[in-house]
Amino acid sequence: MNQTLPNPLSACALCPRKCGIDRTKGQVGVCGMTDTLRVARIAPHMWEEPPISGSRGSGTVFFSGCSLRCIFCQNRVISREGLGKPYTAEELTRAILDLCDKGVHNINFVTPTHYTSLLVPILEKIKPTLGIPVVWNCGGYESVETLRMLEGLVDIYLPDFKYFSSDLARDYSSAPDYPTVATEALLEMYRQTGKYDEDHGLAIKGVIVRHLVLPACRADSMNVLRHIASILPVRNIRVSVMRQYTPDFAADAPYKNLRRRVTDFEYTSVLEEADRLGIIGFSQGKDAATKAYTPDFEG
Ligand code: SF4
Repeated sequence: MNQTLPNPLSACALCPRKCGIDRTKGQVGVCGMTDTLRVARIAPHMWEEPPISGSRGSGTVFFSGCSLRCIFCQNRVISREGLGKPYTAEELTRAILDLCDKGVHNINFVTPTHYTSLLVPILEKIKPTLGIPVVWNCGGYESVETLRMLEGLVDIYLPDFKYFSSDLARDYSSAPDYPTVATEALLEMYRQTGKYDEDHGLAIKGVIVRHLVLPACRADSMNVLRHIASILPVRNIRVSVMRQYTPDFAADAPYKNLRRRVTDFEYTSVLEEADRLGIIGFSQGKDAATKAYTPDFEG
């Protein structure tokens, strides 16, 4: 007897917010999205880490909506305001294959968590003949059960690890459980992909953790790095320490600390701690802290 499995979107618990609402009936939870796939941008992207962007670009698919909704988000027009176009699964599959035809080095799903159950069938269909890695580029606030749906379909996880302090996670992302949740998620990602690996300078599998240094959060950034080094063999992953924070997107945030850029001292001292811990990875120049690093979603 065939039994129909319940649609995960009908009582949504795809992310740790566990809203429990019925997205198939048009209801929206924290991520702001129903069961219709919405995409803000599909294009080769040159501003990811060098082994992801390579010379021909990463094939990015920027999804609308976000379950984390950080108050300083630089992609807020798509993450909070929902800018984007609806796509059917067939249309998105076609668009991804068209992107592959442009010669991109990978397919890079950006902020895809709240669409996981809709993306799994697409990946199952295209993965056997794709020929390039699939990147899951997410905020790190992921449930292990949802990540398990992706086992064998994702080659490279590119999660953030934003905060060590749950107070910061509460203030900036309304997610005091972020440090615990992101820890479990990172361990699951590493379990799935194993050791990071490259071929001719391009990432082919593994985990690249991103950490954005925030103003006045130097100590927390160092704690994030120490924590990562305490739970994973750091030489088997890559860590990207980012300084592209810009206050342009937090003008109305109620926290004074967010109204300035990161100083040289703050960023350099975090990089020194990364070195001390034996972390291998990527850093950014000072010129990264501009609006120019934000893709033009309206263009
Ligand atoms: S994916 Fe969206 S609706 Fe589902 S639990 Fe997360 S925030 Fe709520």
